[in-house]
Amino acid sequence: MNTIVTDSPEEAASFVAAGETAAFPTETVYGLGADAFNAEAVRRVFEAKGRPADNPLIAHVADIGEIDRVADCSSGVARRLAERFFPGPITLVLPKRPDVPLEVTAGLDTIGVRMPRHKAAQAFLRTCGGPVAAPSANRSGRPSPTTWQAVLEDLNGRIPCVLRGERPVVGLESTVVDCSTNPPRILRAGGVPLEALREAVPEIQGPRRDSAEAPRSPGLRHRHYAPRARVALVEQAPAPPPGSVAGYIGMDAPGKDGQRGSGQDWRLVERVATPEEYARRLFDFMRRCDAAGADVIYCQIVEPTGVGAAIMDRLRRAASATEATETTN
Ligand code: AMP
Ligand code: MG
Repeated sequence: MNTIVTDSPEEAASFVAAGETAAFPTETVYGLGADAFNAEAVRRVFEAKGRPADNPLIAHVADIGEIDRVADCSSGVARRLAERFFPGPITLVLPKRPDVPLEVTAGLDTIGVRMPRHKAAQAFLRTCGGPVAAPSANRSGRPSPTTWQAVLEDLNGRIPCVLRGERPVVGLESTVVDCSTNPPRILRAGGVPLEALREAVPEIQGPRRDSAEAPRSPGLRHRHYAPRARVALVEQAPAPPPGSVAGYIGMDAPGKDGQRGSGQDWRLVERVATPEEYARRLFDFMRRCDAAGADVIYCQIVEPTGVGAAIMDRLRRAASATEATETTN
């Protein structure tokens, strides 16, 4: 299959209208979309990604009015969250409408609904004219793509179209909030922090730590967000280790206290000024390290507040998926 790259939301939407898939940018990461009411098209999304069939997709809508086509958003909590945070980097898990194919939700009777803020995403969704089911546009298990090049790296020849657009400003996936339970609970930390959600809905619960809860958000069971290189979490930036190709991402300058060398000994460094920049750069940096053949990526831990909670969630998953033992030095 030939994969075309386009700047035209209308051209990308024409693939979805034809029952095909198209990758598109959002403010979180790139998504791989298909018509949410076309089970065959939805199956193509799973096939292209190599995604396990029990991992549900998110229904993306162009406006609040469209939510009703896929879900029941009538509860007070759901309405408050939608009014306050749509469009934005948040997914609400709601009771599913019966006519949405079960392929979208991996058999669940709830459905994740999201309304992106990204301009090209909105134009694309409006032209599609209905809800678009989409997970992140990466091969299953890999870090989510935050550039159109990263989409091609994983899916070139496996999907017909990539819509190119402004780079995602968040860089990590949406916060998933289960509104089908009382009290509502965060299933996955993401672009909208717990602190902001609590201002709108004080009773909202943070993510469960114990793994028994993980099945409520099926995607959390799977290997995720993982580069090929080993991911090691560090409290302080280490000195570059001799004899290995290593990367470092963090807020502090690397190697400053090391006896061996200084920052310039690192070939692969991403020094970030804020947690927001950390979130924006993390997945792209992991991919850059893989492309350079890195053995290990040192990631400095951050305060798990605000967007830091989502950063730490992804770092922990990447570290355990690459079987790193947590290093604290
Ligand atoms: P992705 O966009 O690739 O991060 O995939 C969507 C993720 O949203 C899934 O992996 C789940 O963790 C979550 N999700 C989607 N629908 C539901 C649902 N009905 N219930 C719980 N979690 C969901
Ligand atoms: Mg994903």
